[in-house]
Amino acid sequence: MPAKSSSPTIGVLALQGDVREHVSALAAASATAVPVRRPEELAAVDGLVIPGGESTTISKLAELFGLARPLRAAIRDGLPVYGTCAGLIMLADKILDPRSGQETFGGIDMIVRRNAFGRQNESFEAVVDVRGIAGGPVEGVFIRAPWVESVGAGTEVLAEYDGHIVAVRQDHVLATSFHPELTGDHRVHELFVDTVRAAG
Ligand code: GLN
Repeated sequence: MPAKSSSPTIGVLALQGDVREHVSALAAASATAVPVRRPEELAAVDGLVIPGGESTTISKLAELFGLARPLRAAIRDGLPVYGTCAGLIMLADKILDPRSGQETFGGIDMIVRRNAFGRQNESFEAVVDVRGIAGGPVEGVFIRAPWVESVGAGTEVLAEYDGHIVAVRQDHVLATSFHPELTGDHRVHELFVDTVRAAG
């Protein structure tokens, strides 16, 4: 991995989902943001964001593009990764209700429930207090969002909403059920960029 740098290169997994919004948020958080679609591109980044979108599609495309296996290995070897929404699902060691054939990358010892907030409440915004983020709560945008059903001993809970876990961290891997990339508030991305700098 390249040496510690004040502007680390952070990839955004660009198979499907809200890639552009993450690229802008990372740039605003002083990182150099690049799309990642191929294993060679993955090998060149200091950290990676897995965007929101549809986790079953991301799972299939990652297999198709030959990214699933190298990404699993990179996470195991310490690559810092941040997943939002579908990205959180992809980072779970286990999905409670996977679609058939749906595989995750893993990295966080947790069990997630897809589309957990239910039909009437498919999309909503809520104020969320996130541990480790100074300056008050963040605006959480939830879109057909998962929640974390349970976590293992090594997983730190960073935020809960309505009694459900919506932000977690395990070592170098961070995940939120909500979408900070859609709000113009870049503090969660800054937290991740700091994680990448610390790992460099
Ligand atoms: N419900 C979607 C899934 O299962 C996630 C939605 C989102 O990323 N906004 O992948």
